[in-house]
Amino acid sequence: MSEREATAEPTGEARRGSSNESWFARAQARIPGGVNSPVRAFGSVGGEPFFVARAYGSRIVDTDGREYIDYVQSWGASILGHAHPRVVEAVQRAAAEGTSYGAPTPREVELVEAICARVPSVEKARLVSSGTEAAMTAVRLARGATGRDKIVKFAGCYHGHLDALLVQAGSGLATLGLPGSAGVTPGTVADTIVVPYNSIDALDAVLHEYGSEIAAILVEPVAANMGLVAPHVGFLEMLRERATRHGALLVFDEVITGFRVALGGAQARFGITPDLSIFGKVIGGGLPLAAVGGRADVMDELAPLGPVYQAGTLSGNPLATAAGLAVLDELDDDSYTELVRRAQRLEDGLRKAFADAGLAAQVTRAFTLVGMFFSDTAVTDYEGARAADHARYARVFHSLLDQGVFFAPSGYETLFPSLAHNDAEIDATIVAAHRAATA
Ligand code: PMP
Repeated sequence: MSEREATAEPTGEARRGSSNESWFARAQARIPGGVNSPVRAFGSVGGEPFFVARAYGSRIVDTDGREYIDYVQSWGASILGHAHPRVVEAVQRAAAEGTSYGAPTPREVELVEAICARVPSVEKARLVSSGTEAAMTAVRLARGATGRDKIVKFAGCYHGHLDALLVQAGSGLATLGLPGSAGVTPGTVADTIVVPYNSIDALDAVLHEYGSEIAAILVEPVAANMGLVAPHVGFLEMLRERATRHGALLVFDEVITGFRVALGGAQARFGITPDLSIFGKVIGGGLPLAAVGGRADVMDELAPLGPVYQAGTLSGNPLATAAGLAVLDELDDDSYTELVRRAQRLEDGLRKAFADAGLAAQVTRAFTLVGMFFSDTAVTDYEGARAADHARYARVFHSLLDQGVFFAPSGYETLFPSLAHNDAEIDATIVAAHRAATA
């Protein structure tokens, strides 16, 4: 683990606006909304996004030369910080040998072996290129392996943009899915059942009616896409028990938590063995790579061994596997002890900063992940997350940005302190948050 020296104060000049503004104008002319993924457009916080020129360690630098302490870190893909020398070197070396072959490579085997060695529930895995693809494969595989159609997901959990999972929750009650996006047909989501996160009663009601038809219960073991919401004590254990009892597969979406909250992911922290897991982000080291893995008997249902089809031109890409192996090689249990310490420093500092400023805030932490809601009451599900004061989040976000600190441009996201964020930077972030809260 290497921690880069960095000064506490962001070093950027005052924002001139020119370059970011002109890139955004050009982008909007040719890219819908000017972005290739919606949250980047700053829609939920207002204003215009900056364009990134480069990044290093904990820092991201925009095209106006302004530098920010970055807590987005590619939405959790960078755990070592940006442009870590070992990752850069691994990718450069791999690129010189060819960027894609469409034939098997040793590094794919090594990366899957490395995943299996760290996550005991993963007996076999297949590499894909995005979390969405991993989730899509997990859903198809669960249906193929069980011969059942229905999937249970939890409101506020995000699993990528596959049609079957783009479903919003009914209000408080378990409901059969209604599409959450134009272009998703009711038929596509008719077999998706949405249940409030942390509600075993709602799940039991669904299982009572549809128990024998459920192929999979799919969950983010720590919900990190509605802000950060931890599972209630016993919630994941009950999911495991209910899935087993009803013959459904338990699928953990560890795209965020995998290799982020512990080497063995959230399943190691909570001591739960899912049937299937999906991973992304950290294992690709910032390159397009994700995985679906789990029980060998289930994984062997995939083609070419089994009848469940799945494929990908760039799957197991040589650059992405090089980056993933370099990242995993840098991480050991001590990395997570250190990350927890930093996350806790950030959590404690933010909580105190908001309290001192008299703002009602819920600062949440799950191991190495930190979240915040401007709310009087603890947030335990999507309804609570939506009831938080998102307009206030937007004001705090912009004040922080003006002070050289980049938090997620939406109150439904998580903060990703990395191994490159030193104490001085975390403390500077807390000072900036206090200023933002009092402003
Ligand atoms: N699952 C979770 C928990 C995620 O957070 C995300 C993306 N943020 C995905 C799946 C989808 O991953 P991708 O964006 O790589 O398709």
